[in-house]
Amino acid sequence: MPLISLRNIRKHYGGYGEAPKVEVLRGIDLDIDRGEFVSIVGASGSGKSTLMHIIGCLDTPTSGEYLFEHEDVASLSRDQLARLRSKVFGFVFQAYHLIPTESARENVEVPAIYAGIDEVTRQARAIQLLSGLGLGERLDHRPSQLSGGQQQRVSIARALINGGTVILADEPTGALDRESGDQVMTLLRGFAAEGHTVVLITHDQQVAASADRIIEIQDGRIVRDMRNPRMKRVQDAAVARTDTGYETSLGSTPIHPPGRALGRLLPGVTDACRAAWRVLNTNRARTLLTLLGIIIGVASVVTMLAVGEGAKREVMSRLNAMGSNLLQIGSSRPKSGGPRGVITEEDIEAIAKIPEVRRVMPILRDDALVRFGSFSRNFEVLAPTEVMPEVNRWPVLHGRFFTREENRNVAPVVVLGYRAYQYYFPDAGNPLGHQVLIKDAPYEIIGVMSEKASESGHINHDERLYVPRRTGMVRVFPDQRDESYLVVEVVDSEQLYRAQENIETLLLARHGRADFWLNNAAARQQAELEARNSLTMMLALIAAISLLVGGIGVMNVMLMTVRERVREIGIRLASGARQRDIHRQFIVEATLVSLVGGVTGILLSVVVIAALALLEVPVAPSLNALLGAVACAVITGVVFGLMPARQAARLHPVAALNRE
Ligand code: ADP
Ligand code: MG
Repeated sequence: MPLISLRNIRKHYGGYGEAPKVEVLRGIDLDIDRGEFVSIVGASGSGKSTLMHIIGCLDTPTSGEYLFEHEDVASLSRDQLARLRSKVFGFVFQAYHLIPTESARENVEVPAIYAGIDEVTRQARAIQLLSGLGLGERLDHRPSQLSGGQQQRVSIARALINGGTVILADEPTGALDRESGDQVMTLLRGFAAEGHTVVLITHDQQVAASADRIIEIQDGRIVRDMRNPRMKRVQDAAVARTDTGYETSLGSTPIHPPGRALGRLLPGVTDACRAAWRVLNTNRARTLLTLLGIIIGVASVVTMLAVGEGAKREVMSRLNAMGSNLLQIGSSRPKSGGPRGVITEEDIEAIAKIPEVRRVMPILRDDALVRFGSFSRNFEVLAPTEVMPEVNRWPVLHGRFFTREENRNVAPVVVLGYRAYQYYFPDAGNPLGHQVLIKDAPYEIIGVMSEKASESGHINHDERLYVPRRTGMVRVFPDQRDESYLVVEVVDSEQLYRAQENIETLLLARHGRADFWLNNAAARQQAELEARNSLTMMLALIAAISLLVGGIGVMNVMLMTVRERVREIGIRLASGARQRDIHRQFIVEATLVSLVGGVTGILLSVVVIAALALLEVPVAPSLNALLGAVACAVITGVVFGLMPARQAARLHPVAALNRE
């Protein structure tokens, strides 16, 4: 009952379009039993390698039937074929085909990774196998640090790590000196004796003569198939052993079937990460250049956002301090000439009825001589209504503000601005209950306002005294008939402009001429805020574009990497990697580059932001921007890694292995 059974296998290339048809295999019938040591011998170009690739499920025949353990290989899915390569076949190539960036031990482990064997077990096995092959001292050497014979022994260890039920060796001695070649042949013979099925491919009759059975191939046809009379091998003994004889002699390892569970995905990702890291580390200069794009992209996104947010917050705080929903209105001489306008009580009532207006605070104001003890000075005296602390969002520091009753009753009370308080009470004594003289009339101090630094510039709230409005009208400024100005509080700061328009229309209609002024400082600030917002957006957009360019750089490098590493991909596929394993590896690599770039970019932006802060540029770094930028970098890596990864995963194993 043969292990491998080929029936009328044909393989041809081309034959369509321009390419001429090349018939490589012209009807191969071949049975190989478990435990056989077969050599396939023939001239160069006779189709030996093609046949071996078909047997090893690296390639598919054009026609014919291939049964492996009675199962029609043509009916297997790609993943099942990968699994077969991983669990059953071990390849040894003339050119060794080791992954140049990985150490001897890691190269041996590759098939075990794809078979899902855990790290500890596969490391132990690899070390054991390499030590058994005399490479115990060379575990951490790269292929380039090993001789040809040593490299070939590493590849033999790799063929054995998952059991090596069938060892397919394609001209394994072709590149070796005589001594190393003999060593390799001795090993192969030993494996055959231990029960492995060994298929040796060679053009050399002398090498072929080491096998128990010699099959000669010529122009894609088997021309001779004979037992080797020179080799007296006790075949029964070999067959009696199981195909895992080698495995048991080394300590058996269960091979986990590939599952879909997360438990299998995670180690896969860890391995992919490690492999990726090694590749990045090997090409440091190139990695750095790739990273640069991402680093600059992320750093500029984060910095721009921090600077933009800082500027925005500064304007916002100015806006809030001033009251983002306040308008000032006063009377003036119209530009067209004529007397100064008068804002009447009726005007105030009408304005208060506009839907966008929450309340109106009329204010009288004038300078007056204010005396306290031996201190005497002209101060601006304001006479607002009792709502002033609320409207201006300006708390009282000592004592209290005047009440509605005090206003109605024309109470002789006064609240001092902070600077006025400092002027009259340089020792910071308690002012409450004392009397100041305003225009020689006494007023009781009932409170001191907290300090309000001048934010709008031209008015200093702190250098003032505040009396109730009616007190002002009746007592302080009895001659003044006009309101000095009104402060209008709008329901919602978004409605400032609408409120302003409505008030203008209303006053124009009532007065018949533009004899008033309207100050909308908050609206100006808001316009500034919007301008700054759009500037920030623009800067962030430019930064994002640089991140995009960085991503394209990653893609470019990844595409180059795929091209450079076609051979490696072929090796991985021959070692049992599924398409999705290859895909994942390249995605992980691209993501890792981007992630490293992203984190470095953040560090850079932290430095830049700190420097800006030292230069007193307002900056407001936000965690969200940081995380967002890193997320962007990672997404960039994944997105721009997709195409290269797909390209890599779609490679044909044989084409990949043979690519120069
Ligand atoms: P051997 O290993 O016996 O030297 P191969 O199996 O490598 O021979 O190749 C057998 C023949 O198939 C050669 O003539 C080679 O040119 C041809 N061949 C192999 N691969 C291809 C291909 N992808 N396209 C066209 N011809 C190919
Ligand atoms: Mg060949």
